[in-house]
Amino acid sequence: RAKGRGKNRYELYTAELTTDALQHFLIEQHLRQALQKKQLILHYQPQYRLDDKQLCGYEALVRWQHPVHGLLGPDKFIPLAEETQLIVPLGWQVIDMACQQLAIWLRQGKHVPIVAINISPPQLLQADFIQRLNQTVAMHGLERHRLELEVTESMIMQDPDFIIQQLQRLRLSGYHLALDDFGTGYSSLDRIKHLPLHRLKIDKSFIRDIGRNPKDEAVVITIIALGRSLGVEVLAEGVETAAQSEFLRQHGCASVQGYLFGRPLSVEQLMVKEEQVAG
Ligand code: C2E
Ligand code: MG
Ligand code: MG
Ligand code: MG
Repeated sequence: RAKGRGKNRYELYTAELTTDALQHFLIEQHLRQALQKKQLILHYQPQYRLDDKQLCGYEALVRWQHPVHGLLGPDKFIPLAEETQLIVPLGWQVIDMACQQLAIWLRQGKHVPIVAINISPPQLLQADFIQRLNQTVAMHGLERHRLELEVTESMIMQDPDFIIQQLQRLRLSGYHLALDDFGTGYSSLDRIKHLPLHRLKIDKSFIRDIGRNPKDEAVVITIIALGRSLGVEVLAEGVETAAQSEFLRQHGCASVQGYLFGRPLSVEQLMVKEEQVAG
């Protein structure tokens, strides 16, 4: 009996495994098609300086315009893309679309100092990443300092020596670098000291409880102080309330990003919004 149950359990297990594997495979196939059919689009979220309230950049955030499921957020497909290495071609599409859009904005005379792009570990681990990035940026007639590459602490842990070398090369090539989701990873402060960063982005989980949780407030104040002592600008993400924004301003945080200032929007939505503001 026990043996029988064991066998059933095993069959159940393999059945589940097959379904999982199959689902995985199907999503991967769909994602491959999405790349071919250009179903990925970028939304842009504004970033503002707190002192003069000027727009200082846009972060490009990818979405999948799925023919059946509608608009899918990155959490639904980026992890899978990272596992399957599809993140490499996907990442190039994102970089190309962001460069193309920035070039259009600049030609239109729009004030966009920087576009920030999220980069996954497998992208940065490609030996020809920087060379191809340079080519793409040049092809769109852009200056490299107009691009900010966002990396995370966990990325650096994957192959610290090579990644840090890549980051140094990127910085020397003229790109801006930001450490995303700061405070959620496990990198040592000693390592951060050696990273050629322009910006630290405080993770939104610390911003959420400003005004409610003194410990989160202490973390935020400490990150701002760390940025100041390292000579790195600090941006807070996920700012949703005026009280959070005021707290950040009082404690010397340079810039902000969040629903309070603007949600990520498509280029068309951004244009509609600007027309509304203008008149
Ligand atoms: P992230 O880079 O940390 O991006 C910030 C996320 O916070 C975005 O979610 C954004 O929509 C959301 N957000 C912005 N303001 C607020 C706010 O006030 N409150 C709250 N609760 N959330 C806010 P999204 O667009 O779903 O992106 C999730 C993550 O997916 C990004 O986190 C980034 O790690 C990844 N991602 C997005 N686009 C790309 C891409 O092109 N390539 C790669 N490799 N990863 C990407
Ligand atoms: Mg980001
Ligand atoms: Mg983040
Ligand atoms: Mg992130």
